[in-house]
Amino acid sequence: MSTSPVLVWFRRDLRLTDHPALHAACAMGRPVIPVFIYDETVDQLGAAPKWRMCLGIGQFSERLAKGQSRLILRRGNALDVLCALVKETGATSVFWSRLYDPGAVTRDTEVKSALKEQGVEARSFGGHLMFEPWTVETKTGGFYKVYTPFWNTVKTRDVDAPLPAPGRLPAPEKWPSGDDLSSWQMAQPMNRGAEIVRPHVRLGEDVAQARLQTFIAKIVGGYDTTRDLPGVDGTSGLSQNLALGEISPHQCWHAGLRARQEGKAGAETFLKELVWREFAYHLMHHTPRLLSGNWKEAWDAFPWRTDPDTPEVTAWKQGRTGLQFIDAAMRELYVTGTMHNRGRMIVASYLTKHLLTHWKIGMAWFEDCLIDWDPASNAMGWQWSAGSGPDATPYFRVFNPVTQLDKFDKNRDYANRWIAEGRSNPSAEALSFFEAVPRRWNLSADAQIPAPVVAADVGRKIALNAYENKGF
Ligand code: FAD
Repeated sequence: MSTSPVLVWFRRDLRLTDHPALHAACAMGRPVIPVFIYDETVDQLGAAPKWRMCLGIGQFSERLAKGQSRLILRRGNALDVLCALVKETGATSVFWSRLYDPGAVTRDTEVKSALKEQGVEARSFGGHLMFEPWTVETKTGGFYKVYTPFWNTVKTRDVDAPLPAPGRLPAPEKWPSGDDLSSWQMAQPMNRGAEIVRPHVRLGEDVAQARLQTFIAKIVGGYDTTRDLPGVDGTSGLSQNLALGEISPHQCWHAGLRARQEGKAGAETFLKELVWREFAYHLMHHTPRLLSGNWKEAWDAFPWRTDPDTPEVTAWKQGRTGLQFIDAAMRELYVTGTMHNRGRMIVASYLTKHLLTHWKIGMAWFEDCLIDWDPASNAMGWQWSAGSGPDATPYFRVFNPVTQLDKFDKNRDYANRWIAEGRSNPSAEALSFFEAVPRRWNLSADAQIPAPVVAADVGRKIALNAYENKGF
């Protein structure tokens, strides 16, 4: 039997359970060498996702080390690194979990064919998604452009049951050398924000699994209602783990299915939300321009403002628009690295409709600040909110941040948690915002609440005027 090692190239799949590529590698009965490569796709990450990934890598390394294995860290072009490792270790197979964004697809295609040319077995596996984007087709053989029919098509499909974690990973006789994680300096762009955001990180596979259990036991029953209330702990909070593969969508799906069977009312909605993530990937696969240009191309004619540094955009980024919902949500983003979904929809609507600012500016800001940053969900969320994306009602869905606050934060739990100005006894979270932001922003909790940059009730008119005569 061959004793040549199998390299398992980890990327956004930092887990041991339900990992088809790792499972297959272990099944070969040969030594397994786990690898993580800091290549240009990692280098290009925004500050918060890069830092969060660094935490994830560190934690995953420790987990592997507990099982007498290692995560070999190397920096450089992925193909060069893998070729070097193949040479050094005598590996004859390289396995990985598939990714779907255009950059990763181009890289992985090149890696696969180059390795194969060298006689190395190069295999990619599923795991990041439940439904491979090319397996979901309309009756006429096309792809879905609207969520509901996509959901109707996949909702009854069998989703693979999660795989158990392998036992101890067989170690090679000699481990190749690797970098020290700290030498990659992935935390550097976070500056002083790292310390503030750290308590909001749910780090690693065990923590993610425990949160899933808690969510299913205590929250999913009322999820139908609580998922819309930013002031309560009413959602799974697993997006940061899903983004880095610390938990698989299959694990979430099966937990959701069981909850539905037990009659928990919100479970079906949870399953639907997991499918929104799948839908985002479906769209990105079939229309990669989702990430870079208007998904509906007619929107190229829309008069977006493209200056990222206007006083209005700066006020939006700094949570100083004078509108409580917007400011609370933008501060939540800065302090926790996440934002409630309703907050995301409302700040995105405000930026693109009240301020007529290009969605790419908001998308880039989220990409820098979100610890759950996901290329497909972020792009879809922004384009959906802006109107240029997959939504049947873009014209008239302009959120009014004041009426939204009245509806979804009646008691002002959310607003009070995040806004310090004008309060005699601001919350610790509200104050921590001022510790997290760059000093050059010159913000103070004692400042006056500014007058609204653009009043809540005029957004609709502004947006409709801009749409006029553009032929949408
Ligand atoms: P739950 O309500 O517990 O939902 C469970 C899971 O379903 C989530 O973890 C997520 O994986 C998926 N999901 C839920 N809602 C959506 C949705 N609308 N679109 C896609 N997947 C969804 N989500 C990200 O994971 N990363 C992003 O970068 C991101 N950017 C967004 C930007 C905008 C402008 C908008 C409007 C939405 C964005 N979303 C993004 C989607 C959504 O806001 C988050 O997934 C959700 O808030 C995460 O919280 P949760 O894990 O508690 O979600």
